[in-house]
This record gives sequence, structure tokens and C-alpha cells, in this order.
Amino acid sequence: MSTYRDESEISKINREAAERKVVAGDELFGLVRRSLDISVLTHGAFDITYDSVGQHYDFRSRKRPDAGTVEAEREQIDYRLIKLEQATGTVHFLERGVRINLGGIAKGYVVERGIDILRHRGIRNAIVTAGGDSRLLGDRRGRPWMIGIRDPRNDGEVAISVPLVDEAVSTSGDYERYFDEEGIRYHHIIQPSTGEPAGGVHSATVFGPDAVMTDALSTSVFVMGVERGLMLIGSLPDYESIVIDDGGKVFYSNGLTRPAAQSPE
Ligand code: ADP
Ligand code: MG
Repeated sequence: MSTYRDESEISKINREAAERKVVAGDELFGLVRRSLDISVLTHGAFDITYDSVGQHYDFRSRKRPDAGTVEAEREQIDYRLIKLEQATGTVHFLERGVRINLGGIAKGYVVERGIDILRHRGIRNAIVTAGGDSRLLGDRRGRPWMIGIRDPRNDGEVAISVPLVDEAVSTSGDYERYFDEEGIRYHHIIQPSTGEPAGGVHSATVFGPDAVMTDALSTSVFVMGVERGLMLIGSLPDYESIVIDDGGKVFYSNGLTRPAAQSPE
């Protein structure tokens, strides 16, 4: 699933799927299909074709696409340009220049697989973490796991701690991969409709039963912003969210508001 490796399945798809149908392995095919479902659910806020623009960023060397490149490449951001054929297990792009990247969902998948392996070996209490994505198995010695949400503008500080048992949790932030230039933060979460980094939010955290979903939904809520993002989460009974906006203000989805207000300690 790595776009950094030329020999990966996804790199082959990105090179060839505009010319012909390319066979994807079962895992990759399944995750692309789930990504498309989440694009529909989020009205395109989550879109793995963001990479036609995303590929032009290099955060380590402070490289970003110029306005002309963004304008041209964002034409190819549209998940409806991806066609999947279940019978043959193939991926096909309807236009040249379309690229996919699973950076917004693959870590959640890896975490779920890790938990599956532990569970099958009889482990009942565990935490598997891949950066901003974690899945908890059971509790921690009879008490909940305490999961910290980082303060988006104070490195190493925890803004909010949440007690969790048997849940997945993902955070998307504008402080993970970024650089600042003339007061503007250029970061790694792209608003598909503009091709620019999404504004308005510093971090979006999503909790729920499945790390694939929490990973993709945290990216989605970040893109959708406080109001639309929390409305989406409110429509999903098993999922909750905490969003910190660009003024540092904290917002909770409906299922969380009461417990958070009840615990002054
Ligand atoms: P991380 O856990 O690496 O911080 P996130 O879950 O926050 O990742 O997702 C950010 C990653 O998602 C980006 O690095 C990029 O690979 C991918 N991405 C960026 N914008 C979008 C988008 N609009 N839809 C889907 N994936 C995206
Ligand atoms: Mg994510």
C-alpha cells in the first residue's frame, strides 16, 4: 500500500490503471472499496484521489505545488473516476493523471490486523498504536485505558484525556506533517474541493468500534470542519468525536457532551 515503493501494488495501479484494468490483491482491493464507501458517506470529503495534488508536497523539504499545478491537478481529484470490478479484482481509472493514496486509512487497517492477530492468540488486553491510530483490546488491569489527545499547538502536551475500553481511536492533526510559510500552515490533509490544505480545524479525533473507520473518519471530520463533521458523526450511532478548531476551542459530538461536562476532575 506504499506509494513510496515503485514495486508496490498501489504504485503499479497509479502507473497503469488509466490504460487498463489492473489486478489488486484482496487486501488492497478491499481497502479501496471501503475508501469509496467512505467517500460516498462523507460527500467526497474523504477521497483517496487527493494524491494528484498531494504528490506535489514534500513536507521535509518545504516543497509545495504552485497555484497553477493545484488548479490543473485538482481536476483529477474525484473518487468517481475509480472503477472497481469485483469479479476480476481489478482497479481502473477513467482519466489519466488520477492517483490514489491510502495514507488516510491504511494505518487504521494495519492496527485492526494487529489486534486480530493478538486476539487469535488469546490475548485479552492490549493496545496497538500506529502514530495517530490506536485500537484497544479490553481494559488496562481492570481500569480503562487513558488516551491523550495532543494539544495541537503545544508539542508534547496533552489537551484532553479520555478513558476508553475496547475501542479504536484516531486523531488527524495539522501538526503531524507540515511547514509554515508566511503565516500559512501547509499540512498533509487536503480539501478535495480546492486542492489546498483544509482550514478551520487543528485536530479531529474519532472513537468507535473499528480503526479503519476511525482513521478515515478523523481525516473526514478534519476536512468537513466542526459543524458538518460533528453532524456526520452524530448520524453514526457507534462513533463519537472531539474536534479542536483553529481558535483552540474544543467541540464534542452529542454522545460525549454530558460525560465531559460532568467530570471537573
Ligand atoms: P496520519 O495519521 O498520518 O496523521 P491522517 O489519518 O490524519 O493521517 O490522514 C492524513 C493522510 O491522509 C495524509 O497524509 C494523506 O496521505 C491522506 N489524505 C489527505 N487528504 C485526504 C483526503 N481529503 N481524503 C483522504 N485521504 C487524505
Ligand atoms: Mg485518518
